[in-house]
Amino acid sequence: MKKKNVDLNQLRNVICYHAYLYYTLDSPIISDFEYDNLIKELILLEKKTQDFKDISPTEKVGSLMLENFKIKKHFVPMLSLDNIYNINELSNFEKKINKRFFLNKQHNFCCELKIDGVAISLLYKKGILIRALTRGDGVQGEDVTLNAFNIKNIPKILNQNFNIPDILEIRGEVYIPLSEFYKLNVLLKNKKFTFSNPRNVAAGSLRHNNPEVTLHRNLMFFCYGFGLCVPKNNFVSHFNFLQKMQKYGFPINSNIVLSKNINDIKKFFLNIQNNRTKFDYEIDGIVVKVDNIFDQTILGNTNKYPKWAIAVKFTPSENVTTIIGISFEV
Ligand code: NAD
Repeated sequence: MKKKNVDLNQLRNVICYHAYLYYTLDSPIISDFEYDNLIKELILLEKKTQDFKDISPTEKVGSLMLENFKIKKHFVPMLSLDNIYNINELSNFEKKINKRFFLNKQHNFCCELKIDGVAISLLYKKGILIRALTRGDGVQGEDVTLNAFNIKNIPKILNQNFNIPDILEIRGEVYIPLSEFYKLNVLLKNKKFTFSNPRNVAAGSLRHNNPEVTLHRNLMFFCYGFGLCVPKNNFVSHFNFLQKMQKYGFPINSNIVLSKNINDIKKFFLNIQNNRTKFDYEIDGIVVKVDNIFDQTILGNTNKYPKWAIAVKFTPSENVTTIIGISFEV
């Protein structure tokens, strides 16, 4: 028993170390796949030993935050996503969802790209951007408002032709277009280093001490969710929410489909996987969300992720093959 506990704590420490390198320093030294396998191993070990802890990386979002930013609280926690690497495991996700509903209810699933950047939460008061926080530990994040002002496609004032909520917390992903990433590395050619990974450049540039650096990195943003909405939101579905946000002025990724069943989701996944090189940004999979907002509320969250959404990630071995044009306009 004692030995098991030592292994468990060692594994937790190893994972926390990698989480610190990834989330805090934006400098991971192992792949996401390897990290996710360590997490899976820890989940199994915790179940086996019945040793659960709130501070375990299986329960926690993110890692330590940078001290050079003010730390502020999210109005609604900003969670992570559960993930699978095998598309066939989607049926377990569907089973878990169906279990929560008495009748065998038909669900629509909204499928989106999983943009490989860094999450941000934007706070609008009467349609004006007043604050931007990183996801941080999910409860509080780093205040990167000045830097967010330097991301060109983040709307600073929302389209006043619409009835904008008094308070609106918008969640989305900040990323660096690949064309900008390559340009940056060309500029660095004669220096001692180049950047190896667009995700880490995006995270490092969003959390840079100097907002001018954020400006010159030409970061971009896609909106994919919301937190607080006052008065209470009347979004019927996630798809409907995205359409509305586009009208308000938010950039919404155009590769979105509504699927009625797992087979359609699989088709979407395979299509995206085969076409991933055609995007000017990195993606690491797709995100599948129960579309109905009321059903999302019934399903609820764990400490770490919503039970109504899941990421289906590409495995490192998955090859990129044909290039076919695809675009689903919202
Ligand atoms: P995640 O990146 O797997 O998924 C959650 C995030 O996806 C959200 O916070 C959001 O930022 C993003 N996202 C992109 N598109 C989205 C969309 N359309 N809808 C909703 N969310 C979308 O989870 P995480 O908690 O940010 O990080 C955990 C993952 O990070 C791990 O699974 C691992 O892959 C990686 N990681 C790697 C290391 C390493 O050392 N390589 C260390 C820690 C974490």
